[in-house]
Amino acid sequence: MARPRVLLLCSPCMGHLIPFVELARRLATDHGLAATLLFASATSPPSDQYLAVAAAAPDAVDLVALPAPPPEDALPPSARERAEHAVASNVPRIRELARALAADADAPLAALVVDMIGVRARGVAAEMGVPLYMFFTSPWTTLSLLLHLPGIDAARAGEHRDAAEPIRLPGCVPIHAHELPASMLADRSSSMYAGFVSMAKAMKQVDGILVNTSREIEPAAGDGMDGLELPVHPVGPLVWTRPVGDHGCIRWLDQQPRGSVVYVSFGSGGTLTWQQTAELALGLELSQCRFIWAVKRPHQSLANGAFFGTQNGKEDTSLDFLPEGFMEMTRGLGLVTNSWAPQTAILGHPSVGCFVTHCGWNSILESVINGVPMVAWPLYAEQNTNAAMMEVQVGVAVRAKIGVDRFISKEEVASAIRRAMVGEEAKRMRKRASELRDKSVHDLSKDGGSTRALAQIADVWKCSSSRK
Ligand code: UDP
Repeated sequence: MARPRVLLLCSPCMGHLIPFVELARRLATDHGLAATLLFASATSPPSDQYLAVAAAAPDAVDLVALPAPPPEDALPPSARERAEHAVASNVPRIRELARALAADADAPLAALVVDMIGVRARGVAAEMGVPLYMFFTSPWTTLSLLLHLPGIDAARAGEHRDAAEPIRLPGCVPIHAHELPASMLADRSSSMYAGFVSMAKAMKQVDGILVNTSREIEPAAGDGMDGLELPVHPVGPLVWTRPVGDHGCIRWLDQQPRGSVVYVSFGSGGTLTWQQTAELALGLELSQCRFIWAVKRPHQSLANGAFFGTQNGKEDTSLDFLPEGFMEMTRGLGLVTNSWAPQTAILGHPSVGCFVTHCGWNSILESVINGVPMVAWPLYAEQNTNAAMMEVQVGVAVRAKIGVDRFISKEEVASAIRRAMVGEEAKRMRKRASELRDKSVHDLSKDGGSTRALAQIADVWKCSSSRK
């Protein structure tokens, strides 16, 4: 019997690839669809870690690596624009692959699923006569902001960063000017901002949206919007589920008391300056808490300096940027690693008590599904909004207080960690986090809301492909 095929297209962002692999896995193993995942790369060669994440997809998912843009192409300035360029340069190849797949009578093409960057490839879906869906890998709050953006853009005068009033979206945390996504803080006359608005407009032209959240995390997720007939399905939290195996971090955690360890990581791309990295080290020392720090080489000007991995695709192993004597002073108390950390396994370990995070949406979901409270230290993209949501609306995070020039002092690092680890506030957050964990685990179970939502979409795709 024919098994309809879903073609998934992921832009070159680690934070998109991880949930795309999980979505493709679920569609292929739980929902009776064939799945082909095309993943773009921004660098040549892609980092070892990026390839390893894709390769963790089960055999039931066919993988196709798309090449990075030619080296002679001028690099656009922002990460989003670079990712868009990497997808745009592959559109002819994507079209060719889609045509070849469409010729397979045993697996008729049923849908094209893209991320927010990939909406630029919507012509391919139209040409193949299949619906175009977007899998949105950030929260509903950001999706709602983007879907409203063309209207906000038309109605507002002046720069968004100067607005005195927050943006209020139904059911979402009010978004103050300093909490807006980075692309909205750019000058409205800039090409960066224009590209962002144009992406937001393109998002409205898809046939449906899957969003990596749940109604437990965001109760308004998927609520209809005036004048927008666009079905939105919360299918999350989809996080990394593959086993990690034997790892030094996990062996070290096995030796630590329950709930005693602070895990510190700024995601796949987040970087601090040299001075801020040293200050964080001193803050960890001052907190007197045990810690695992997945550290990155500092970057003086970019908060996402490691976003596309290192240029030569190899990891940097030196820790020469840490304050002198730090490793000796914290021996036994902490573990510093500059390799890729097994984050979901760390967050799932009973010794972990809180997560100092840059508030990338995958990191937040991984913390939520493991019931771990957070210290929010947002760096780029929509992370300021995510941090506000987690503190104000969801109640599972404290935000570190940011000082002049976005600097966070060692005293504040230690104080935010202690607020999340000890005392009444920490107790409240732990209780809320474990309630949310239980509800999220249920959402993803066989009868849970997110699994049912995905099953419904899979049925729609199967029906439409059988009518062709
Ligand atoms: N991650 C990991 N080990 C690391 C750094 C990151 O496993 O050392 C994973 C993390 O678990 C998450 C993803 O990389 O799934 C980062 O995504 P997120 O949305 O949190 O942030 P981004 O990197 O996209 O800013």
